[in-house]
Amino acid sequence: MIAVLKPAVSLRAKAELVAWIEARGLRVHLDRSGGEEWIGVLGEDTRACAAELAAHPAVAELRSEAVPYALASRAYRRESSVVVVGGAGLSAVAFGGPELVVMAGPCAVESEEQVFATARAVAAAGARMLRGGAFKPRTSPYSFQGLGEEGLELLAAAGHAHGLPVVTEVVAPEDVALVARHADLLQIGARNMQNFRLLEAVGATEKPVLLKRGLVATLEELLLAAEYVLAAGNPDVILCERGIRTFVRETRNTLDLAAIPLLKERSHLPVVADPSHGTGVRALVPPLAKAALAAGADGLLIEVHPSPATALSDGPQSLDFSGFAALMRELGPLASALGRTL
Ligand code: PEP
Ligand code: MN
Repeated sequence: MIAVLKPAVSLRAKAELVAWIEARGLRVHLDRSGGEEWIGVLGEDTRACAAELAAHPAVAELRSEAVPYALASRAYRRESSVVVVGGAGLSAVAFGGPELVVMAGPCAVESEEQVFATARAVAAAGARMLRGGAFKPRTSPYSFQGLGEEGLELLAAAGHAHGLPVVTEVVAPEDVALVARHADLLQIGARNMQNFRLLEAVGATEKPVLLKRGLVATLEELLLAAEYVLAAGNPDVILCERGIRTFVRETRNTLDLAAIPLLKERSHLPVVADPSHGTGVRALVPPLAKAALAAGADGLLIEVHPSPATALSDGPQSLDFSGFAALMRELGPLASALGRTL
């Protein structure tokens, strides 16, 4: 529920209102958007005090649309949020504005040579960020698990050498501080979308968060996962549609294109798409990348490897350098047709 405050309401009246809400066991989130100052009233049963709140002298209007994800909801923040990654010595990359942002790089950081070569190639082709996993959540405990801290250092060094902020996954709450020291954007993977302790831990950092949809998550569950991060105090969340598990056997996952405009309608948060995990099939990455942008995605996450055939993870869905450069050339005219820049 959101209580829009009357214009020029006094500090004292605001403080009284906050105390009144908190006395009812609810949490408050003070914010302003679109020229309005408002209080998000957060809690399980906010409706019990709705009538009293609506009548409060400091309250101009009560919006109580029945969505459980107050802070993520567009009902509460009507204009689209722009999430800025990087800056402070690095280039600043804005998600949710006019630019379509492409993040590209290997599934996993494997070696210095691999990640530096990839950073150079994707930067030259027009990517704005470098991706690469250092802590890999693998289905089998015998698969390559990532280089850990060394991988983080290599990723950041390679990306920053080419002016690219970096995104990498964090898989455990105890690793958040370490990963946040190296990463410019913290990725929460599909398998951890509902790891609530992890969501709270990234919510307590100053780094923006890329939140991937779980393999069988509904859109409401995805938005409630985003709500965990927002409610923990971190306003910078980017949603990522990365495909869900369906009965289709020819692809690894089914990229849910309808989720993109639906998420943009329900939430003010930027939405990107991952056609690599969304299909698992290299040849399907370019067409689905284009489809996702046409459906309204604010950017893409794409796996690129110098030698997909020998990649330690996700080779079959990785583009090589020339495949990625060709895709970027094709995205230019599409971006213009969509009224966006690349
Ligand atoms: C990844 O981006 O490499 C990854 C593991 O993605 P997901 O969590 O979507 O499977
Ligand atoms: Mn991968």
